[in-house]
Amino acid sequence: MLSTMQDIPLTVTRILEHGMRVHAKSQITTWTGAPEPDRRSFREAGERAIRLANALRDELGVEGDQRVATLMWNNAEHVEAYLAIPSMGAVLHTLNLRLPPEQLVWIANHAADRVVIVNGSLLPLLVPLLPHLPTVEHIVVSGPGDRSLLAGAGTEARIHEYEELIADRPTTFDWPELDERAAAAMCYTSGTTGDPKGVVFSHRSIYLHSMQVCMTESMGLTGKDTTLVVVPQFHVNAWGIPHAAFMTGLNMLMPERFLQPAPLAEMIEREKPTHAAAIPTIWQGLLAEVLTNPRDLTSLKQVTIGGSACPPALMEAYDKLGARLCHAWGMTETSPLGTMAHPPAGLSPEEEWSYRLTQGRFPAGVEPRIVGPGGDVLPWDNESVGELQVRGPWIAAAYFGGVGQEPLRPDDKFSDDGWLKTGDVGVISHDGFLTLTDRVKDVIKSGGEWISSIALENALMAHPEVAEAAVVAVPDPKWDERPLATVVLREGATTDLAGLKAFLGETIAKWQLPERWSLVREVPKTNIGKFDKRAIRRQYGDGELDVVEV
Ligand code: ADP
Repeated sequence: MLSTMQDIPLTVTRILEHGMRVHAKSQITTWTGAPEPDRRSFREAGERAIRLANALRDELGVEGDQRVATLMWNNAEHVEAYLAIPSMGAVLHTLNLRLPPEQLVWIANHAADRVVIVNGSLLPLLVPLLPHLPTVEHIVVSGPGDRSLLAGAGTEARIHEYEELIADRPTTFDWPELDERAAAAMCYTSGTTGDPKGVVFSHRSIYLHSMQVCMTESMGLTGKDTTLVVVPQFHVNAWGIPHAAFMTGLNMLMPERFLQPAPLAEMIEREKPTHAAAIPTIWQGLLAEVLTNPRDLTSLKQVTIGGSACPPALMEAYDKLGARLCHAWGMTETSPLGTMAHPPAGLSPEEEWSYRLTQGRFPAGVEPRIVGPGGDVLPWDNESVGELQVRGPWIAAAYFGGVGQEPLRPDDKFSDDGWLKTGDVGVISHDGFLTLTDRVKDVIKSGGEWISSIALENALMAHPEVAEAAVVAVPDPKWDERPLATVVLREGATTDLAGLKAFLGETIAKWQLPERWSLVREVPKTNIGKFDKRAIRRQYGDGELDVVEV
């Protein structure tokens, strides 16, 4: 028996139309470096998105599922592109401006991008790539930046000014009726090994994921809130926040290119966002800043922190500043929000704290399982450690294989029975909270036992004189692998490595304590600011690290 319900496709078009009408007055505020930020209502941004769609179709000839790329910071124009491109049936391809040039070229060619919308300030990055981007026919430049760089850039592409292009266009568009399963947006994972992998989000997956982002058990944000969107729009749809905002009227504060700790602290003090979203590295930097130049961060009722494990010491430090960090886990392949750590009701402060330290609870829509090394599915007992696998309507089933090619389903990422293999290792509690101990490739296999690099890092970063600590596996003749700890000390620190090891011994079993240590000035980071453990292992292998036996 079929249902009697209407079969309305879940599309980005509906999110755009809802937000600009029902939440017309909600605002996108973009930090521009000028004394006053740029402020734009959802109504204005929505109308400008519609004008952009008209311009892309009528002036640039964008049709069907052609890819329109963005090389942009977080700003109002980027939100306009987010809404316009999928709504007209084309595919939004957010280019990661932190990638090395050769990877950007590979990705833009693989996606066969036809148009690139670029912030003027990013022209120095784009211009040298242009001779290698044969599919790009149009470049649309938005915001301040030196246009003369485009002269003699070695491209046949036509150049447009964003504002001129959208001026005088109609503020209505005869939107196509789209299949909710059609491609809406795409994003490549950074690809630390092999070529980058393209994840293609559907209208349906974006819609359902955004509804989940809005849930109280998730980010739970409303039209009364303002969120500081530090997580880049080129990184997995800025964790779904712009779409969720157009659903709920949530105001957005966009930091543009002002991502350094000092301007971020100023933005928070002046604009008083109630929520923010970013990876731990950003919060570490901001903490160091406000400890030396105090700022009022107390407007932040909730801060979504994820992308890598949040050290407990960081949560404690922000608790003291009156801002509450809430741990989340996800990945590009999961759209990205997979879990969020809101403790259940009725707990003692200690119990509540232990729940806050987990990666969080699975929402309806993300179904998990823990798979042991032998392929057996393990119980949810908070003890049985294995690889996390997930499935659900906003979880990737494959990678983009290239235009006209079959999707890719590598065995190490997709199981035969329809689960995504996350590459993360951890446990699940009986009530559905995830605790990660490692990534499959980072776990330290010592004498047949597993040592969690994350547990060692968290314990080290709890030391008041430690600014950062990253632990990796290095080869060992007796135990196969042992941990190597690389540590960045705070300025003026007086502790030595023996002191650090003794401190670690207070909470970590003796057999897990590293005997190889290295004091470094900085932990190498990936292009999106996570600890780059591959780089540390390479530095160790090449003898570049000053390693001391303790
Ligand atoms: P990349 O794979 O390039 O790092 P992703 O953003 O897709 O890009 O990274 C997803 C991975 O980040 C997850 O598989 C997990 O290993 C890690 N991660 C994300 N959130 C957390 C978290 N809260 N704690 C620990 N690791 C996390």
